[in-house]
Amino acid sequence: MEKPSRQRVRYYREAKDLRKLKTIEHWSAMFRLVKTKRRGSDVVGNDCDEIKRNKLLDWPSQSPDLNLIEHIWDKLDRRVRRRSYSNKDQFFATLLEEWSKLPHERLQNLVDSMPNRLNEALNKWYEKTNNFAPPQNPAIQKAWDEIIAGQILDSLISSFTSDKDIARLKALQEKESGSWLHALPSSYVGTLMDGKSFQIATALRLGCKICHVHQCICGETVDSFGHHALSCARSKGRIPRHSAINNIISRSLTSCDIPTLLEPSGISRSDGKRPDGLTLIPWSKGKSLIWDFTCVDTLALSHLKSSVNYAGSAAESAYHAKRRKYEHLTSNYIFVAFAVETFGPWCRDAKDLLTQIGTRLLSRTRRS
Ligand SMILES: [Zn+2]
Repeated sequence: MEKPSRQRVRYYREAKDLRKLKTIEHWSAMFRLVKTKRRGSDVVGNDCDEIKRNKLLDWPSQSPDLNLIEHIWDKLDRRVRRRSYSNKDQFFATLLEEWSKLPHERLQNLVDSMPNRLNEALNKWYEKTNNFAPPQNPAIQKAWDEIIAGQILDSLISSFTSDKDIARLKALQEKESGSWLHALPSSYVGTLMDGKSFQIATALRLGCKICHVHQCICGETVDSFGHHALSCARSKGRIPRHSAINNIISRSLTSCDIPTLLEPSGISRSDGKRPDGLTLIPWSKGKSLIWDFTCVDTLALSHLKSSVNYAGSAAESAYHAKRRKYEHLTSNYIFVAFAVETFGPWCRDAKDLLTQIGTRLLSRTRRS
């Protein structure tokens, strides 16, 4: 375990006051102590964490303009490019030689420039965000990005006059709404989209016009945005899409060594309706899992008002309807209402089931 020198500890003590963190020796001592802490040393105890949190790394680490080492790399790069070398050993020797020749004053100037750099960055931040306060945790880049993204989103939403546009944009903020873009394209598991499907899926999310105004076979008028097809009971492909999703759920469970049966008989309701699938062996707590899938339209007239106020409300509403529908099965089975929306949001049951399947798949993969 590395023991810091008395001098380094002194630098560390002094450096606790940011105003004294001015020389290269101070910075060097700080970085070495942080590294020491990472290796498990308790020499500087929690103070090191305190400095990392409150004093030293108060800015996104990946910000190139604020990361002094980027400027030092640049200087080194220019110096090495002026030299000639013919093999790897010579190259490393040149690097070391030029590194040792970097003028101390220029490095000191860089360190001294930090307060101005920070002030300039903060001024730009206030200018860009209309004096919005910096995030609580400034060391995380995402915290900065979220404020800017939130302001852009608010500005976009306030510029919309159509409820459908507002509901569309809110739904698209949900985490699951963009998950389809991360799926590995595979025809085997049904995640390979053809070009036209991808084009339409993207256009719907961007609010683009995708078709000519025409009359649907159900009698309704389909506008140029094509939203009617997402909720029409006679929409072509509705049943195959429903079956495809259930097949994917079934195959996912089978991959976890849980055999399944689609549209199981024997557990039907009195009206003949039955859930979409059943696991043939217990899923949890000695009970089999049954699931019923539904996809409701975020922008359907029956959901539009709630979708404007709360993203995911249509899926939650469908979730509660499914729970009521299969209430009589919940004492003997683990029932999952797998409700999702056309514009992306999922109900909590669907998210939970996906997480559980993922955990079991991961565990199975590690075993094999
Ligand atoms: Zn229709």
